[in-house]
Order: sequence, then structure tokens, then C-alpha cells
Amino acid sequence: MIAVLKKDTSEKQLSGLIEWLKMMGLDVHISKGKYQTIVGLIGDTSRVDIELLQSLEIVDTVKRISEPFKSVNRKFHPDDTIVDVSGVKIGGGNFVAIAGPCSVESPEQISEVAASVKASGASLLRGGAFKPRTSPYDFQGLKAEGIEMLREAKKATGLPIVSEIISINYLPLFEDVDLIQVGARNMQNFELLRELGRIKKPILLKRGLANTLKELLMSAEYIMAGGNEQIILCERGIRTFETYTRNTLDLSAVPMLHELTHLPVIIDPSHATGKASLVRPMALAATAAGADGLMIEVHNNPQKALCDGPQSLTPEQFADVMKSVCAIRAVVAG
Ligand code: PEP
Ligand code: MN
Repeated sequence: MIAVLKKDTSEKQLSGLIEWLKMMGLDVHISKGKYQTIVGLIGDTSRVDIELLQSLEIVDTVKRISEPFKSVNRKFHPDDTIVDVSGVKIGGGNFVAIAGPCSVESPEQISEVAASVKASGASLLRGGAFKPRTSPYDFQGLKAEGIEMLREAKKATGLPIVSEIISINYLPLFEDVDLIQVGARNMQNFELLRELGRIKKPILLKRGLANTLKELLMSAEYIMAGGNEQIILCERGIRTFETYTRNTLDLSAVPMLHELTHLPVIIDPSHATGKASLVRPMALAATAAGADGLMIEVHNNPQKALCDGPQSLTPEQFADVMKSVCAIRAVVAG
């Protein structure tokens, strides 16, 4: 349920209302926009007397929200949320390119890739240190050492770093990671989401392989319910019957999510297609569709990559994609 307040509501009146709602056992989400303040009611609202709420002097309108996701709902927060990743802003017109290898492999590899993607316009460096692999015999990542190499690359380039967490037990290792990624396979690891809701770091939440947008938003709700509102959503392709591509990029997720939620939405064309040759066209299409950013895998020697080589761009290919992305951004941002 939301209550839209009248323009001249004072802070004192607002805090009186919040107190009253909290006394009814509800959580309250306040969104102060340019033109209006919206009070979102979270919890069991069946006991709220709508007519009484509506009759309050400061209340303009009251509406029930039918969707199960509340805090992430655009009805709760009409303005775009801008996520701040150590000074790099995403959302609300701020477009960001995240680039780097699937996994961190050596200090030379990550520092070389970091310097090149920075030169091409990436503003965040990605690199997996903990790799959730389908086979237990595949490379699982360099773990703590990998995070250390990312930190070194961050020191050298100034690029904030993004890395995937696969268990809350590793959280202490992520102190210097600027944006914590929850991978597709963990999108519904509710314990992990709950814990990440309690921390103060931005979270990059990737859509599960076979999850609906509603489920993605419910997972974001888990994080936000804990108080962490800094969430970026990522569409990375879903499972369909098609086999030429690794997954099927659901591009309509961008405008659909923009309608449903205030959170920024980015596209990962690398995992969506599994093929380096398809990354460029899908990156451009995603930019044209209004994505708030892209996450692209880049490797200095894709043929030798320990993970996801076939979908990784060379630094030169990435530079070329970025040029066209910038041209499309200029048109989209108009
Ligand atoms: C990744 O970004 O390296 C990754 C494993 O992605 P996803 O969880 O989307 O498969
Ligand atoms: Mn990968």
C-alpha cells in the first residue's frame, strides 16, 4: 500500500504518520521525489483502515500495491535509483561499462586487462575469484589470491572492482570489493541475499538461468528488506530451447524492469550469447533498449582463458564495441 502525501506536509507531520504506522507493526519506506513524497507501507497491511488513512489531513491518495514486491516497486519510488559504486554512478541516466575477464588468472593478466578496458572507457573492473562451475573438475578461481590481484589492479588503475560471492562465509574477503556480484546460480540463495541486505555495499544481482522477472524482483526485495537499497539488476540470458547460443538474451527485460522497478538494469551480452561474435550486436541492442550499463567479458588472450574464452572479447574488440556504444548512447540519451 502507498500513501501519497500532500505537497505542504511538514517533517513533523511526516514523522507522526511514520510513528503511527510503525505502531501498527508496519515497515515504512519513504520516497521523497521532486514533486511528491510517497510513504510505502510494508508488511501485513490488511489491518490498515484505508478510509482512516485516506481521511488524514496530510494524505492525498492511498493505493494498494498488488505486486508482491514492494520496496523495489516503482510505485513505491517513482524516481530512478542511482547506485553509487565508490563514486561511479549507475542509473537515472548514468551509463556504466563493466569489463574484465571471467576469472582472475594472474597479476599480469588482470593488470593488463584492467589498463586496456580503462583506456577504452570502462569504469568498473570485473573479475571472478570464486567461480561457480558446472563441473567440480573445472577451474574454480584463485579465491583470496584472486581478490588480492583485483585489489592490486584497482590500485594501479583506480577502477572500482566487481567480483562474485558464492558464500556468505567469504564476506570478510570482500571488504575492498566495491560491487558484490550475486551470480545467476545464486539468485535464489535466500540466506545469502538476506545477509547481503545487512551490509552497506552495492550488490549486482544477476537473473537466474530459469527465473522470471518477478522472481528476480523478489530476490532484490530480499536484499532491500534488510535495508540495503543499492542494487543493480542484470539480465544475462535465460534458458530456452535454442542451442546455437549459450542462453537467450531477454532484451525486453530492460524496458519491462524499468516499468516495474526503480533499480538500474544492466545487460551481460557475454553470458547471454556465449559467443564473442555476438557480444557486439547484443551490446549495441541493449544500449539502444535503454540499459543502464553493460557487463562484458574481456581477456588479453581469449584462446588461453581458463574460463569462458569463447565469449570473451580481446581488448581491441572491446575498444571497438565501446566506440559504437558511445554513439548509440548519444542517440538514446538524446
Ligand atoms: C560471471 O559473471 O562470471 C558469471 C558466472 O555469470 P552468471 O552468474 O550470469 O553465469
Ligand atoms: Mn564468465
